[in-house]
Amino acid sequence: MQYPEIFQEMIDCFKRLPGIGTKSAERMAYHVLNMDEEYVQQFSNTLARFQKEIHFCKICGHICEGDYCTICLDEQRDQSMICVVESPKDVYAMEKVKEYHGLYHVLNGTISIMDGKMMEDLNIQSLFERIQEQTKEIIIATNPTREGETTALYLARLLSKYPVVVSRIANGLPIGSNIDYADELTLLRSLEGRQKI
Ligand SMILES: [Zn+2]
Repeated sequence: MQYPEIFQEMIDCFKRLPGIGTKSAERMAYHVLNMDEEYVQQFSNTLARFQKEIHFCKICGHICEGDYCTICLDEQRDQSMICVVESPKDVYAMEKVKEYHGLYHVLNGTISIMDGKMMEDLNIQSLFERIQEQTKEIIIATNPTREGETTALYLARLLSKYPVVVSRIANGLPIGSNIDYADELTLLRSLEGRQKI
């Protein structure tokens, strides 16, 4: 027996979220059925506002509310270092390491042959454009996964023609893991033990 059309549509919407299968999506749709009107209103308003108000920083690609993120706008940050990460959530993870005061650059993904994602699909050109005289070091902090390592190698090769030190965070992180799951101490060790490549 088929669900009413809008009920099915609700299920399909949930199914598009990462890690949500049919069963979970159905459970969520049933949950919406019992949500009070005020919550439903707030939920839908937040979704709409979220899409309208969250942007990508024009300098580094991190998420922000205006044109630029708070890190790029902060003149107190160490302008000589740029830490390259895969996603905005990695910026939040790195910020938990209170020892890092430099800038960031968010690639918004990795090279992935399986997904047909190449270097030109990432936020990379803007990284080259922001390298200035004051830029002394670029720390590549992509995840220690196959895609993350491949991206780091490509990036290091492309950066070799610039007069900056290029380093890779140390292997304190387990292979195949994600930076945003690492605890602060592991991340700090990994950052401190970074090696020139
Ligand atoms: Zn920024």
